[in-house]
Amino acid sequence: MEEPVAIQQNEEAKLIEDLKLDEKKKIMDPLHAGLFKAIENGDFGSVQRLVTEENVSTAISDENDMSPLLQAAYRGHTDIVRFLLSNGADVNITCHTNFYTPLMMAAISGKMDTCRTLLDAGAKVSTTNSIGKTASDLASFVGQHDVSALIRNFLTFERLEPYFTPQGSNPARISESTAKCLQQMVMLANFHPVKVVILVMDQLCDVSVLKNCRNVLDDLGRKCVRNEKDFDEILALKCHEVSTILSLCCERLSKDKPDLTALVKMLLKENDAGIQLGCEKVIRDSLMKFLFTKLPAFLQLVQTLSNTKVGEEPTALSCMQSLFSGMQSMRDSDKWCATCWEGSAPLQCSACRKVRYCSQRCQKLNWFIHKKKCSK
Ligand SMILES: [Zn+2]
Ligand SMILES: [Zn+2]
Repeated sequence: MEEPVAIQQNEEAKLIEDLKLDEKKKIMDPLHAGLFKAIENGDFGSVQRLVTEENVSTAISDENDMSPLLQAAYRGHTDIVRFLLSNGADVNITCHTNFYTPLMMAAISGKMDTCRTLLDAGAKVSTTNSIGKTASDLASFVGQHDVSALIRNFLTFERLEPYFTPQGSNPARISESTAKCLQQMVMLANFHPVKVVILVMDQLCDVSVLKNCRNVLDDLGRKCVRNEKDFDEILALKCHEVSTILSLCCERLSKDKPDLTALVKMLLKENDAGIQLGCEKVIRDSLMKFLFTKLPAFLQLVQTLSNTKVGEEPTALSCMQSLFSGMQSMRDSDKWCATCWEGSAPLQCSACRKVRYCSQRCQKLNWFIHKKKCSK
């Protein structure tokens, strides 16, 4: 059963190797050749001059079927990428023989800034190349895990615009600053419910704002699934999870004594094996309410979880984290935060030196649990 995967991986490696053969002689007119040379050298001035003064088209391609934008994206020249986009280059161009998009090019070469620029300009994340791989898959394949996670979790601010600007006679549903906070929550690659609650504590601690945020997320989630074949499944699930946590915050804030710390404590409650049972229950319950039950990522998640008892590994949260980030859960790293599972936690419990935290806040939030074990 392993062979097809191996063959596909070889094929993938060969395709990526082919991309590097750009020393091949290019037969084209001198101005076009000059544009490609300037891009190769990252010579922004020359690119600008050729396009604006010499009217060299941005829609040409070289003999390897690379367009100027594909080439600039592969080399990570973000300034040139931005310039080409503002001069009519198509952000989702697929002129390449193997259907590589500019985003795939930047992903393969691990160029984070270039990827961000392309995503902001509307690069599609679900497009696949000739062997069915997305930009995020390709980044993982070459070990660019941070780039892969960025792409998987990206939500352009533009998609939130209809919610923070008035639509006809209807007022905006949320403010622009609230939209920024929602974007931050949805883009959490290392998703953890406690991180969402902390963001609410700091920025959205208001029941009516939270209710509007939930409506926005639910609407956005529905828009992520356009039809059976066209969907952003990670975003759809992410919107649903964030919306679930916001509804828990709403519940707490509507009580006589509004207190989100109590909610954090509920989420962090552990069993003897150190599994955060509150998070586990919240995530499993939320999955039962997810609307798009045919999405492949959702099916895979549910299948893994149906074979695991609550309170045992792998937890629902770690499965979900791997799905969102495309990597193993951060809890498997050496320096994970015992509260929010952030990967590189600089602080240590000074008494026992057995647990780490990403911040003093996480340390304080966790103390009611850790104090029982710390002295031992
Ligand atoms: Zn933390
Ligand atoms: Zn300790």
